[in-house]
Amino acid sequence: MKNQNGYVDSFAKLIQCPTVSASGKEYFDKFHKVLDEEFPHITKVCEKFETGGSVLLYKWKGKSQDKPIVLMAHQDVVPATGDDWTVEPYAAVVKDGKVYGRGTVDCKNVLFTTMQAVDELIEEGFVPEHDVYLSYSDSEEIGGPGCEINRDWLVAHDVHPGIVLDEGGAVVTEMFPGMKHPLATLGVMEKGHANVKVIARGKGGHSSQPPKNTPIVRLARFVNYCDKHTVFAPKMSPVAKEMVRSIGKVTPGFMGWLCKNVGIFGSLLVHTMPKKSPEFWGAIFQTTIAFTMMEGSSATNIIPNCAWVNANLRFSPNDKSEDCIKKLEKIAKRFDCEIEVQGSHEATPEVNFSGEEYNCLVASVKECFPDAVIAPYMLFGGTDCRTMQEICDTAIRFMPCVMTAEQDGRMHAADENIDVDAIGKMVNCYKTFIKAYK
Ligand SMILES: [Zn+2]
Repeated sequence: MKNQNGYVDSFAKLIQCPTVSASGKEYFDKFHKVLDEEFPHITKVCEKFETGGSVLLYKWKGKSQDKPIVLMAHQDVVPATGDDWTVEPYAAVVKDGKVYGRGTVDCKNVLFTTMQAVDELIEEGFVPEHDVYLSYSDSEEIGGPGCEINRDWLVAHDVHPGIVLDEGGAVVTEMFPGMKHPLATLGVMEKGHANVKVIARGKGGHSSQPPKNTPIVRLARFVNYCDKHTVFAPKMSPVAKEMVRSIGKVTPGFMGWLCKNVGIFGSLLVHTMPKKSPEFWGAIFQTTIAFTMMEGSSATNIIPNCAWVNANLRFSPNDKSEDCIKKLEKIAKRFDCEIEVQGSHEATPEVNFSGEEYNCLVASVKECFPDAVIAPYMLFGGTDCRTMQEICDTAIRFMPCVMTAEQDGRMHAADENIDVDAIGKMVNCYKTFIKAYK
């Protein structure tokens, strides 16, 4: 059995396969070969299904085929571009107690530790109460069909998962200033999203004789308005309420007391908490707008006859996408701008976070991370779990990975890294959960 050094050596081999989304079948074939070698008990004991593309699906037979566990991750990674990396992104460099590399937290850590947990349990002679499936998409980062392929396979084979676990929340330390306990965020829903192109038109011309109110000026006024005003009112959702209550239990002083009594002070907290941490609590309580792209003319001395800015919206569970887009359109009209909507998804429904499957997960997390505060959580971005949620009431976005908020921010960025210690703790937590799941 692997020890901690063994974990790092084995994990490094996975990172060293640059399985960038759509990079080509040969990269994924090589990766699969590494998995076959690194997890010999899975290779020997589990059934492996060819469901399509480079997607992987394993079945570890349990005592019952009812309410199986589905452990998910994705094999593909985003490219490691730019020269801002301080190490080679696919070398899996170990430095200062951390493994660096693309995919170390998004999310080959999940793939590695779920496989390692199953491999060890097989070696120990353990037989799970229920079947365990390992489902690894090949195209999550580009919104590809990998997860759908496995979902369809499960449906076709009459498999009804009792619980699905995918990437998402983590065991985050130093989440808020003054918070002494790590926060284990169990993702139980995802915000919706849309891109809205806001367009201003006008008479273009030479910049030497500028008219008033050009397209760029109007767009700038529009953006400034959205930045200065609360376009979408903050509201308390059931998930946010549970989250505030959980955090209240470990927050000292007056604030902690308010949070614990969120049932009474909810409407006060939705306004005060975003002031303390707009990026986090603002995103929890509100539909957010981020301006991400813009374009004017193609030369320094041309006034454009059309300019646009992209507004990336993330819908809170309290808001319907249609209403938010209408509101934005109304504001845009005030500045003589029009809109074009490019793809829109509602927030997912909340999964069941009071059933025995969820409670079993919570108990396992508590056992493995005794000082962590466990809270249901709303994901701001999307995961493959959205697809699996269609066939499972308890589809949880959570990896038992200890990381700082800073490490969390390195997903898709330079110097992505994971603590060496975190790897063993993840393996342990998945093993604990599989053993506890009855
Ligand atoms: Zn991911």
